[in-house]
Amino acid sequence: MVTQENALYQGELWCAYELKDYEGRYKEDLRLQMRMASQNHELICPNCKESIILCAGMIREPYFRHHAETDCKTRSNGNQGDYPLARRLLYQLAKRSFKESEIYCSKEIGTYVADIYINNTDKPMVMEYLSYDMKLNEWLDKHAFYERKGITDVWFLNSKKYRFEAPTTFEYLIATKKHILNILDTHSGEVTLKKIMRLNGQSVGKVIAKSYFLPDLKIDDEGCLQCDFEEYVERLFIQETQIQEKRLEKYPIPLRLAFKNINENNTSETIRQVEHEKGNANFQQSNELSSYEVHRFPIADTNLTSLTMKMPAIEECWLIPRLTGENWEIERGNKERFDYLHDLNNRLFKIEDEDQREQMIDEAIYYLEEMIEAKRW
Ligand SMILES: [Zn+2]
Repeated sequence: MVTQENALYQGELWCAYELKDYEGRYKEDLRLQMRMASQNHELICPNCKESIILCAGMIREPYFRHHAETDCKTRSNGNQGDYPLARRLLYQLAKRSFKESEIYCSKEIGTYVADIYINNTDKPMVMEYLSYDMKLNEWLDKHAFYERKGITDVWFLNSKKYRFEAPTTFEYLIATKKHILNILDTHSGEVTLKKIMRLNGQSVGKVIAKSYFLPDLKIDDEGCLQCDFEEYVERLFIQETQIQEKRLEKYPIPLRLAFKNINENNTSETIRQVEHEKGNANFQQSNELSSYEVHRFPIADTNLTSLTMKMPAIEECWLIPRLTGENWEIERGNKERFDYLHDLNNRLFKIEDEDQREQMIDEAIYYLEEMIEAKRW
């Protein structure tokens, strides 16, 4: 069944979510008026120009459907679960933020569908809700597509999947491109802003989060929700820095550096012992290097270890950090990392722009060094 949220009414674009207020209650007079318009065949599909039927019941969010025999190809990112509810919340956010702009739901752009498309004159904007398991590369592709088109993309993640304190791989990935993550709880209407903060010398980022009631907020031209989150982060950052400085007075050598020194001096008998027992002489090489960093070698003169990835696209081999965690987590994490690097290598083959290539490499290295906890992968 083809369902959609937009219709033409008296020659103007009209959205079914207009029927509800910010708390999700129907505006009864309007609902009556539009139901009559629907019965009089005054609601027209913007794509195929057939008349469409308004469905505005109590269980689902309001939408339009085509008559049974239609072959209209209207697409959307999903009509199941809390997807329609999320789109209504985002539509209303767009509506109160950009009163003059045309706003579309489920707008097809190239091969993609944007949940919300805002036709701002300076720079168009899309809002996307991620309720399903989007693959890392799918996200990168869609984000890059919007960037190429000169469209600001704002992402809202499903709160059930992304409620945890520790950031997921996906959140880390988005954080490399986006300053702040938005996590949307469709049922309470709360949006949680998250930022991964990394203090000097810390290898693992700390998550800062604060929640707001979405209907209280507007969004600006750049795609930032207007609230006091930035100031909140700033305050915490100052506090954390002070705490860290005190800690440094007490323990002058940062932990990461201390580990590095141990490895460089080869005084870590226990580590060597373990490697020796594994019977892999190549591990010797990794012992002399910090195990918290990515090391890059020319492809020809590298001994391969279980932590080496060949990157033919740039004629290098990468020795990647050892993961921490339970054995099964490490096994799974390593598989994820190698899949990720495999994809990266394929992408690097295709990139011709030198700067872009360097940026991709930098991001990947940041990512690999940041995520040494296996469960993050
Ligand atoms: Zn249609």
